[in-house]
This record gives sequence, structure tokens and C-alpha cells, in this order.
Amino acid sequence: MKRYVIIGGGPAGINAASAIRARDPDGEILVFDRDQDPPYYRTELDTYIGGSTSDADLPLHPQSYYEEQRIILRLRTVVTRLLPEERSIELAGGERVPYDSLLLAPGSLPLTVPWPGSQVSGVMTIRTWDDARRVIRHVTESSRTVLVVGGGVLGLILAEGIRQRGRPVVLLEREPGLWAPVLDELASDLIRARLGQAGIQPFLREEVTEVFGEGGRVAAVRTTAGQRIETALVVVAIGVRPDIEFLRGSGVRTDRGIFIDHEFRTNIRDIFAAGDAVQGYDPISGQFRVVTNWNNAAEQGKLAGAFMAGGGEAYRGVILSNTESFCGTRVSVLGHTRPASDGTLVLAGLDQAKGIYRKLLLQQDKLVGALLVGNTSGEGMMRKWILEGKPTSSAELKSKFLTGLVVEEKNA
Ligand SMILES: Cc1cc2nc3c(=O)[nH]c(=O)nc-3n(C[C@H](O)[C@H](O)[C@H](O)COP(=O)(O)OP(=O)(O)OC[C@H]3O[C@@H](n4cnc5c(N)ncnc54)[C@H](O)[C@@H]3O)c2cc1C
Repeated sequence: MKRYVIIGGGPAGINAASAIRARDPDGEILVFDRDQDPPYYRTELDTYIGGSTSDADLPLHPQSYYEEQRIILRLRTVVTRLLPEERSIELAGGERVPYDSLLLAPGSLPLTVPWPGSQVSGVMTIRTWDDARRVIRHVTESSRTVLVVGGGVLGLILAEGIRQRGRPVVLLEREPGLWAPVLDELASDLIRARLGQAGIQPFLREEVTEVFGEGGRVAAVRTTAGQRIETALVVVAIGVRPDIEFLRGSGVRTDRGIFIDHEFRTNIRDIFAAGDAVQGYDPISGQFRVVTNWNNAAEQGKLAGAFMAGGGEAYRGVILSNTESFCGTRVSVLGHTRPASDGTLVLAGLDQAKGIYRKLLLQQDKLVGALLVGNTSGEGMMRKWILEGKPTSSAELKSKFLTGLVVEEKNA
């Protein structure tokens, strides 16, 4: 009987476990996670904070699923290091667990900034269900302004969730636009207008310089523009990085993330990797990059699990692929949303009155990216075309995806 060990109970780890069980009815499957909660939809933590997702909606599967699938979850368990030469992992406390096949799916950790004064309570990041519970406790106990630092995708959805609890929300973004560099100026302006309508006050080109506490709790911050913002909660959402420190000294090849090949194998025999923590091949740029999103992690986990159990179909690579809703406006981004080189043709379609903006990027007769605001239809087909490198033309893209819009066409 083969023993599969999985580090991380996110979508990559759990989908891998399910895919292994589908191919290997007898193998032993162990999933280790430091979290206290059984696997859940991390993507819904913002709507959980907002109140539209309940405790019952968050788990990925009911407890019975793990029993039926014979997937052993070991929660509140930290993996501290790998010992590939003896084919085992080591847990905090020293226990060693042997594996025949190992999956690294540790996801990411939020970035933070050590501002002067920021060691007070009330300055936090949000990654886990328990972090979300702490935010809810806070916003139900206090009516003071909440400050969200970071106008990327995470900052935007968290600001909206907190605002739905009726708290005043201020958002700071140091770049000139929101979700930079993915959105362009026009898309950022459309989203910024929606935030304002929803009661979220965004300030661009502005950062925190200092945090002031009172009685050990945050009371205010000072910004680069000289503003003093009174606040009792600062949510820091300035990005994430692969959670791969525990791999130090293991011999697993990493850069920003864990390098994998098209079968999710690392450089070490019988060790695979998937999800936010990997640096995979980007077929558009030909480079290896970290892409952190749910669908990517879920798809990779499923495919990696199949390879671990001896089957599997080769992976085409990672591209940026994300669909979000910001204060009622849906936004999809695919591939490269900013022209990366000369010779890129940009097709931009706009319906200002309806708040619809759809931009497509064409390079060497192939679609390489899309930014869709207010109307995300066709997103699935575009994703497929990008991944397959399907030959197309500006005429085809316009007639298929930009009808009814005023279209501007220009070379980058
Ligand atoms: C609030 C929030 C909202 C989000 N919303 C969206 C969204 O709308 N759309 C989207 O595409 N993405 C969203 N994301 C990102 C998305 O959740 C991640 O891309 C996805 O969860 C990555 O999956 P993963 O399996 O690679 O890693 P994770 O889901 O991060 O799971 C990894 C697990 O491994 C565990 N772990 C790590 N190291 C160890 C160790 N050494 N020992 C034991 N356990 C370990 C961690 O505790 C974690 O539970 C959101 C993220 C957050 C925080």
C-alpha cells in the first residue's frame, strides 16, 4: 500500500487527495495543515466578514467526505522540514512521517510592513477563517473607521466585506491605480467610482508612515500625504508570498516559489508541488511565474494528484486568470492585461453609460490577455484561446467579443 503525504489542506492539497483516491482505492492519504479548521473556501472569507456567507457555507466538504474517501486530516499540525534522503517529513515536536509520494501545497502567507508603532493589537492580515472571525468580532464591537491598506484584489474585496457591516472604510493604495499593474487607468477609475458609491473612501498614491496606539491598541495612522486617520482596526492586504521557508535546506529547487515541470514534479524524486506556492511555466511569456488564485490552485491540485497516483494529463501552464466582483461590478482578468512588448495590438471597447469596458491584447495573431469590466461574458472561451495559443485576428475578436461597444484599436 502506497502512502501519500500532502502538506496543505487548501484547494490544491484537497483536490490532489480526491484525485489520488479516484485512481488508487487502497493507498493511505494523509493531509497535514497547521490550521485549526477543516478545509474551507478561503475565497469566501470576505463575504463571510460581510455576513452573506455563513459558517455552514464555508467548509469545502462535510466531515463525512473525508471519512468516506479515507483522507486523514491532521489539523493544527505544522510541518517543519523535509528529509528527502529518508523519504519523510518532520513535524513540530519531532515526529517523522514517512512517505512514498509527497505533495507540497503550502499556499501563501500575507506580506506585512514593519511601520513604526505597528506592534500594537488591531493591525492584522487576513488569511484564515480565524482571522475573519477576529475581524467580525471587532467590527461588531466598534463603530470606528476601519483602514484597509492595499488596493489590490484582496484589499478591495475585504474593504467591501467590512463595509457591508456598516463600518466606515478608508482604503490606501500607494500606486496611482487600483489592483496595479493588472488594471489600467480606465478600469481603475471605474472601480474607484463604485467604491465611492458604496461608502468606501479610496486614497491613491498614499501609504502609511506611522501607527499610533493607545493602551496597546491601534488608534490612528499617519500617511505619506500627511493625513492622520483615526482608526481602531488596520487590515493589511499588500500581497502574498509562497509559504516555503520550511523547505530551506531540503534541496527542493525554489526561486520565488517551488519550481515544477509539466507533471508537477519538483527536482526531487517523488516530491510534487501545486497551488499558490509553485512557480510554473507561463506559456505566454515563456517564463516561470507564481500565480496565486483559487482556480489555478484547484486545477493544479487535481492534476498533480493524478500524477502522484500514476496517471495524469500534462499541464499547459499557469496564466493569470481571475474573476471578482467589486461593489457590484464584475471584473475578469486573463493573461497579460498590459502590453508586454512592441507589436501588441490593443483592442479597447467601451460603453461608458453602462460602465462596460473590455480590452483585448493580440500578439502575433494570438490573444494574450483580456481585461473585462462590467461584462465578463466570453471569459471561459478567451481563457482557452490564450492557453491553446489559438490563431485569431482583430476582426474575429471584435465580432466575437466586442460587439455593441465603441472600439479603439491601437499598437502598443
Ligand atoms: C480573504 C481571501 C480571499 C480570497 N479570495 C479569492 C478570490 O476571490 N478568488 C481567487 O482566485 N483567490 C482568492 N484568494 C486566494 C486563494 O484563496 C488562494 O489562491 C488559494 O487558497 C491557494 O490555494 P493553495 O491550496 O495553494 O493554498 P492555501 O489555500 O493557502 O492552503 C495551504 C494550506 O497549507 C497550510 N500550510 C502551509 N505550510 C504549512 C506547514 N509547514 N505545515 C502545515 N501546514 C501548512 C496552510 O495553513 C494552508 O491552510 C483569497 C485569499 C484570501 C486570504
